[in-house]
Amino acid sequence: MNDFSGKSVMVLGGSRGIGAAIVRYFTAAGAKVSFSYSGSPDAAAAVAAETGATAVKADSANRDELIAAVAAAGALDIMVINAGVGIMGDPLTMDPDAVDRLIDINVRAVYFAGVEAGRQMHDNGRIIIIGSISGDRAPWPGQTAYALSKSAVQGIGRGLARDFGARGITVNVVQPGPVDTDMNPAGGPMAKMMHSGMAIKRHATADEVASLVLYLASPAAAMITGTTQTIDGGVGI
Ligand code: NDP
Repeated sequence: MNDFSGKSVMVLGGSRGIGAAIVRYFTAAGAKVSFSYSGSPDAAAAVAAETGATAVKADSANRDELIAAVAAAGALDIMVINAGVGIMGDPLTMDPDAVDRLIDINVRAVYFAGVEAGRQMHDNGRIIIIGSISGDRAPWPGQTAYALSKSAVQGIGRGLARDFGARGITVNVVQPGPVDTDMNPAGGPMAKMMHSGMAIKRHATADEVASLVLYLASPAAAMITGTTQTIDGGVGI
């Protein structure tokens, strides 16, 4: 594992799932880590106690609160924008308020957090956005709202990569397929259907996604920018 001693890292949405694994990996590699949470204070406190990372309450759906939290983190070396929600279902009956909220958290917050992180970030910093293969493909029904959000973050990633590139800052989007978390449990009702289209027929672990994030944050990845990096066990190849 790379040594991230002395590096300042912020993870948006670090209380559970993929974000919590990323917090664990960076703290184990020596980084000074803060992470945001919103609805899961007990889980956030447990991750903070386990890792020594600092938990910061900041709702990604609240633009002012989010920007203030990122600004307060100061000059970061690495920003991981992971916080996200998944609502799946028939677009004909989906609650429009829930769709708006998804867009607030999965799109607007990614834009404002990325811009704010870049404002103060050290040269040669890293911004990593957790997208999804749903940004590229629609292998399963019921994903229209989620897919729109994950396609949008591809544009944010490419745009920021261009805008911050002169400072050596790289910006990339990690696109998982099914990952075993509260959002998409490996034992859930959709799992069999998802696995049927995969070359490697299982959910990824949050640790497998965290490993890719740490690679993109490492000095070895300095020339990887404006990309999407898929980690999906071969969905629909
Ligand atoms: P989980 O539901 O397990 O965890 C979501 C995390 O995001 C929690 O820490 C949660 O914190 C945080 N979060 C959600 N809403 C907000 C908010 N309004 N403000 C601040 N934090 C928030 O999901 P995953 O770990 O599975 O997902 C993480 C990312 O990975 C998401 O962007 C998701 O779209 C993406 N992804 C997941 C896949 C999967 O199969 N699991 C596949 C592809 C992509 P809290 O509970 O404290 O609010």
